[in-house]
Amino acid sequence: MNDSDHKLEEIIARLNQQYGSPKGRKEDDTIHSLIKVILSQNTNDKNRDRAYRALLSEFKSPEELLEADKDKISEVISVAGLQNKKATRILESLKTIKQKRKELDLSFLEDLSLSKAREWLLDLPGVGPKSAAVVLNFDFDKNAFPVDTHVFRVTKRLGLIPKDATRKSAHEILETRTLGEEMEEFHLNLIKHGREICKAPTPLCRECFLNDLCDHFLNKVGSKK
Ligand code: SF4
Repeated sequence: MNDSDHKLEEIIARLNQQYGSPKGRKEDDTIHSLIKVILSQNTNDKNRDRAYRALLSEFKSPEELLEADKDKISEVISVAGLQNKKATRILESLKTIKQKRKELDLSFLEDLSLSKAREWLLDLPGVGPKSAAVVLNFDFDKNAFPVDTHVFRVTKRLGLIPKDATRKSAHEILETRTLGEEMEEFHLNLIKHGREICKAPTPLCRECFLNDLCDHFLNKVGSKK
């Protein structure tokens, strides 16, 4: 194991010590997972969950949703914001799945390799690398690492990905460096750390329990000597 692996291991251990070992919530229905991930774009968990519950209570099945009027869907999910765009994405995704698979079910992704399953999801309207990785990791237990805005910022500051990494390359790098359950916990704990301590634009470095391992902090301290 090299120094950078040791650093990653130590960061994961400290995050777990501080925030525990959280688990992402698996949905009973694979289509619901996809809908939830579309609703979560550009909003917080609370509003995503409110919109998701409202949608499930208004439309009893994905089939019913597929037949629904776009404006009605948009009205029902408005609490999540960007409702017109999200309603379009949900409807277009459902239509594409129905066309390609003849049914509204994504369970077949289970039997595909990670790259094939990801390719399939990325072909759906409005599903980007992060959304695809959330579905594949949380619902299919595949080794996909979702990189949202917090994960991207925190891993870059820590020096776990290069300064010039893109979102796409960040997914690839972090995916090869973590595995299975550890990946899910690490992803969720990085989000928590990004919200509570490693905030944008001003991180609370002095009180951060990772500062002795963090490139951003060590470079800042070094430049003041
Ligand atoms: S030391 Fe600062 S920049 Fe580094 S992870 Fe902690 S809060 Fe973020």
